Amino acid sequence: MYYDYHVHSHFSSDCDSQMKDVIESAIEFKLKEVCITDHIDYDYCDPSINFEIDLNQYSSHIQLMRDRYGDRIKILKGIEMGIQPHIVDKCDRIIEKGDFDFVISSMHTCNRQDLYNRDFFKGKSPREAYLKYFEEMLFCIKNFKNFSVLGHLNILARYDDGVAKENLTDYFDVLEVIFKELIIRDKGIEINTSSLRYKDTLLLSPAVLKFYHSLGGEIITLGSDTHVPNTLAHGFDYIYDILKDIGFKYITAFEKMEPRFVRI
Ligand SMILES: [Zn+2]
Ligand SMILES: [Zn+2]
Repeated sequence: MYYDYHVHSHFSSDCDSQMKDVIESAIEFKLKEVCITDHIDYDYCDPSINFEIDLNQYSSHIQLMRDRYGDRIKILKGIEMGIQPHIVDKCDRIIEKGDFDFVISSMHTCNRQDLYNRDFFKGKSPREAYLKYFEEMLFCIKNFKNFSVLGHLNILARYDDGVAKENLTDYFDVLEVIFKELIIRDKGIEINTSSLRYKDTLLLSPAVLKFYHSLGGEIITLGSDTHVPNTLAHGFDYIYDILKDIGFKYITAFEKMEPRFVRI
């Protein structure tokens, strides 16, 4: 039984898939739950890109999907919030008004520089890049209240080959602080399986997941981060096996921001 908690639709400016097509695929793939998590990125460093959503339209469209398909699949209203230190309060206010089931806190920028176009990496060694990224992440965890999980924790390795060669086990001292802050705040992490599609590897390695588990981390969601309907729940069986090997017994589903543990 799959719970895909990172799924994009036409409300994301980088996605052309109609939400109804995504939901219909999710039903075909026999997903138990699908959580739509379209992008909001306020004050994005590249002003030519607009990652903002009309939240009233978004809500009413999700309600329409529930009315149409709700007897066949549970549809959750999520969001992928692009977080930056200087917009934390704004993000909190938006989430408080938005009646969401689930919120991913994702860093798509660092130091107000783009990760995707690699501006952030220029002039930094891989270690300097990681340390700055984790410093900003820690600030956001401590100050952003209304989120459920940290999105694609190792996104730096997605965009920079030098960084991708680093081993996250060399950063366990920093990750320990980050994981402990998440755990005391009842927040979790997601396992983002999109890297299995475009890099044929899991960026969040089993060693890191094992470390999270050893510190008492329990909240984990799985997300395909798909922008097309046919890769929903991609690689989830493989992840279930990894999680069970480590000793995890549950993954997490959410409703009205409340976690619920689902046995795997
Ligand atoms: Zn993202
Ligand atoms: Zn995403």
